[in-house]
This record gives sequence, structure tokens and C-alpha cells, in this order.
Amino acid sequence: MSQATLSDIRHPNPYEVAQRQFDIAADRLGLKESLRRTLRSTKRELTVNFPVGMDNGDVEIFTGYRVQHNVARGPAKGGIRYHPDVTLDEVRALAMWMTWKCAVVKLPYGGAKGGVICEPKRMSLREQEGLTRRFTTELSIIIGPDSDIPAPDVNTNPQTMAWIMDTYSQHHGYSIPSVVTGKPVIVGGSEGRADATGRGVVFTVEEAAREIGLDLAGATVAVQGYGNAGSVAAKLLHYDYGAKVIAISDSQGGVYCEAGIDPDSAVHYKGQNGSLSGLPGTEPISNDDLLTLPCDVLIPAALENQISAYNADSIQAKIIAEAANGPTTPEADEILYGNGRMVIPDIIANAGGVTVSYFEWVQDKQAFFWTEKEINQKLRQIMTSSFADVLTMAKREQVNMRTAAYLLAVDRVATASAVRGLYP
Ligand code: NAD
Repeated sequence: MSQATLSDIRHPNPYEVAQRQFDIAADRLGLKESLRRTLRSTKRELTVNFPVGMDNGDVEIFTGYRVQHNVARGPAKGGIRYHPDVTLDEVRALAMWMTWKCAVVKLPYGGAKGGVICEPKRMSLREQEGLTRRFTTELSIIIGPDSDIPAPDVNTNPQTMAWIMDTYSQHHGYSIPSVVTGKPVIVGGSEGRADATGRGVVFTVEEAAREIGLDLAGATVAVQGYGNAGSVAAKLLHYDYGAKVIAISDSQGGVYCEAGIDPDSAVHYKGQNGSLSGLPGTEPISNDDLLTLPCDVLIPAALENQISAYNADSIQAKIIAEAANGPTTPEADEILYGNGRMVIPDIIANAGGVTVSYFEWVQDKQAFFWTEKEINQKLRQIMTSSFADVLTMAKREQVNMRTAAYLLAVDRVATASAVRGLYP
């Protein structure tokens, strides 16, 4: 295999992947050509180049994007990512996935995403704040509580969302909490939002385990990407279900322990040391090897394109729950389906994040807040009923879970577009 071919297999363009996933559903649905062309591409794309004053006195120019894929079912919704590898095509793919995700769990939103090419780990808090405030200002021509509502993603967090909310509010002269979700509770955030993505993942794992007859008590779990989504999923599976987390990783590599890792100690250790490497009682494992470990549940919770035709055949997990967006390529999907693996696709598995973001937005708009118990009950209801819809569709159409989720989502968005009609 030539290097170029291997690289194409392992790192396909995420936007092309998203379009191929869409094509599979559009073909099966027999989507009208004009609708297919509309839904296959993004609606609106903003690229901004903007200066930020750095601590050493220099001014650096950063590039950022905000892409709205589709707004047929409501305002655009989607996170903002800070990462050195952000590209416009990655943001386009993530925006398209948000459209389908909101549709599959029936939230009244369209899809969007944003990203800035930067390395936040090498920036001070003050530099990150400056970058966020200026990026928000650049985006202020398209974001808003009724038009496009950002949220956290890789390397952004509640503090980042508080800066976005404050900057947008300063421009308007009064507080507008509903412009962004994932904020700290003290400024209009929702109870349960911090854990929502991981909790939603676990609700879908519970349903999948029931479907395949797997007892989660004592089940082995490997998690790639021990950040917000991955660490919460690991904690809940360990503490609430009695599962055994045998491997976890971050961008610098992973750690393995056959007897099981204590998820809270790992979070604490990573907080103190900046990485998981050297976690007491564990041995090192590479991110590649973690994916192919013998285990019951594999949770990719890092970035795109982790499971490709290169390694799909070696995956041993019975359930693959996609906490990350786009971790599996279409070729890998076919291999995993052929091998009888149950893939819970990203647009349903990690929809808990945007679902509680929706609850946050509703609470901000009505200025009346729910308890964490109420939030988690409503989240469970949406996740389990959406999972059941997808599973029923997969069985009825004899397709994998991703295609089933797309059939539901694409049909809903296409129907909304058709009923709204063509303007002018
Ligand atoms: P995060 O920044 O909190 O954590 C990301 C983690 O992945 C970090 O521990 C990082 O070290 C690790 N990582 C980065 N590159 C890696 C690599 N190549 N191999 C292994 N680990 C790597 O981000 P997050 O919010 O948890 O997002 C993780 C994934 O979940 C992303 O795909 C994101 O789009 C998706 N997601 C997040 C949310 C949310 O609410 N935060 C919602 C839905 C989906």
C-alpha cells in the first residue's frame, strides 16, 4: 500500500465523509435532485481573520470559521472548536452532522459549527479570552439567540461560553444568556449540561447493551479521548453501572489496566499532570492499540477518522459508542456492520450535549430553571426514544444504525424544507 493511499484511507476529508454518509440515505430515500443538492452542501460560511494581542506584546492573526449547514427546522446550533488542525472542510462536516443530530432527536434546530485554528494549550488564559472575545465580535453578524447559538466543543468550555455571552451582551447593552449554551450555571447555564454529552452516550450504551444481551455490570470499557465527553461516560459507566474501565487516553497517549482504572482518580491525575501518562497502577498504551483492545464497549471520544478501513477489522468491541463526531469512516462502517459490531452513530450517541443545550436555551428564554433531576429525566426520555426509533428503522430497512439514523434525520429535514417551499 503506498503512503498516499494509506493516508487517504486513514484521514479522509471529513466533509467528503459527511457527504458520502448523506448520499447513502438520500439514495435510499429517493430524494428529489434539487433537495439533494441543497442538503448536500452548506447554507452559509463565514471565514474571519482577526488579530489578538499576545502576552509578549506581539499581535497574532488567527483564522476562524462559522458554518451554518441548514436552518429548515429552526435556528442553527453547534459548538466551537479550538484546535491547530481545524479546517473549513472539518467545520462544514461538523455543521452538517449537527443538522442530522438535531433532527434525529427532534430538536427544533438546524446545524452549525465553528472553529479557530489555534493551540489553546500554548496560550495563557488572558490570550484565550482575547481570542474568544474578538472571534465572538467577528461572528456577531451571524450568531444570535434566534439565529445561531454556539456551544462548547474540543478545547472550549463553560468559561469560553461565558466570555462569548459577555462579549455579545456588551455589544447589545444588556445580558443575552440565550446566545450561547454550555455556560456556567451562575450566568444562565443549565444544571446537567457539563455531563450531558457523556450521560447521553451512556443512556444509548444502556439501550444497545440491552439489545445485544450484554450485562454492563463488569463489562469492559475502553475510552479514546479523556475530555468532557469521554471522562463523563467513563465515570457513569463505572460508578452507576459497575462497568470496568480498562483503558483511557488523551492526545499524548493512553494508559491500560486489566483490573480497571478509577475514573475520578484519572481526571484528578490529568488535572495535576496535564496528561494521563504515568497514572499509577497502569501501563502505557498507544491510541491505535487502545481501539483494538479486547473489550465490550469502545467509546471513541476524541476526533474524526479514528476507525477506518485500516483498523476496522481489528476492532473487537461489541458496542462502539461514538461520543466523538465522525470517528468512523464509511468503509469502516461496512466492515464493522459485516463483523456484527453494534455502532451507535455519533448523531444519536453524542446528542445528549445538544439536547441539554436545547434545555438551557429554553430555560434562558423563559427565565425559569429546572432541577438537575428534571433535566436528566427529560434527557433520558429523549435519548432512549430516539435510540428506539433508530433501532426500529435499522431492523426494518436492514441497514446499519448510522444509515438508519440518517434515514430518519434526512427525511425530517427534507420534509421541513419541502413544506416551507421555495423562496421567492
Ligand atoms: P475536550 O477538549 O474536552 O476533550 C478532548 C479529549 O480528546 C482530550 O482529552 C484530548 O487530549 C483528547 N484527544 C485529542 N486528540 C486526540 C487523539 N488524537 N487521540 C486521543 N485523544 C485525543 O473535548 P470534548 O468536548 O470532550 O469533545 C470530544 C469529542 O466529542 C469531539 O469529537 C466533539 O466534537 C464531541 N462532542 C462533544 C460535545 C460536548 O458537549 N462537549 C458534544 C457532542 C460531541
